Amino acid sequence: MNDPMKAASWFAVALFAFATASPVTAQSWTADLNTIRQAARSMQGALPLRVNVVKFAESRRTKNFAVKGSPAEPSIQARTAYQVVYPDGTVMIDAGMDQQVHRFFGRGVEEPYFPAEAHKVELALVAAKAIVLTHEHGDHIGGVIRHPAFPSLAPKTTITRTQLQTLMTTPQMPEIKLTAEQGLRFNVIDYETVRAFAPGMALIKSSGHTPGSQMIYLVLQSGKEYVFAGDVAWHMDGVRSIRGKDAPWITEDEPNMAAELSWLNGLTRTEPNVAVVISHDEDQRLQYIRDRILGDGFE
Ligand SMILES: [Zn+2]
Repeated sequence: MNDPMKAASWFAVALFAFATASPVTAQSWTADLNTIRQAARSMQGALPLRVNVVKFAESRRTKNFAVKGSPAEPSIQARTAYQVVYPDGTVMIDAGMDQQVHRFFGRGVEEPYFPAEAHKVELALVAAKAIVLTHEHGDHIGGVIRHPAFPSLAPKTTITRTQLQTLMTTPQMPEIKLTAEQGLRFNVIDYETVRAFAPGMALIKSSGHTPGSQMIYLVLQSGKEYVFAGDVAWHMDGVRSIRGKDAPWITEDEPNMAAELSWLNGLTRTEPNVAVVISHDEDQRLQYIRDRILGDGFE
């Protein structure tokens, strides 16, 4: 399951980043699905077979925080990580977090944390050939930074220079602050718009929720496609209605968020083969498991 040579060759090939014709202007965010597909298909190697999800914690927040204008009805925010299964190993999308980081998100309230599930995430990180992160918040990256095996996880964890910068200078919480020495242990990349990451996988620069946010495109051998949207929205209703969050404790780039929500909304209308995956949407997680779009648990 662990083939460092393979992982190294992925990274080498991934040095070829897609520099699309996108002049530096103040225009709002945009992305082109066909360019993204081309990037994902540009890397040699067998495509992945399936994707699994684990929910290791929950936050209980009324819906109005996740989707502006929604009624203040009870809502479960799942905390999740994803395992992409290749014929010869796995790639992790996001890394979970330990219970101490989880408590930060409760802001004084003890919220559900599932130690057995969190342990599965820890094991999956160790077994993975590579780890990539939608963004630099504690619930997505804490599992690498605070893992007992951090020294062996960091070199196979790809983070963007922007993610690293945030983690070194203005981390979401003190527990995930990186020193320069720790930062140097990661596989740090820089790209403009889209970048091949692994066979069938491409990264889509999507700053907004955080400066280092990215979406992750994936195509399976079956042809099924995914866009892991991270925290661009906290619930799919935000994509359906193109409405952002209403959470006073976060600061986002509003024009980028609006553009990213619009793009995802367009995908749901014009690209029925693409499953948009929202990290914290518990309703969607259950639906995707029922529809066999996501496997329930890691292997
Ligand atoms: Zn999150």
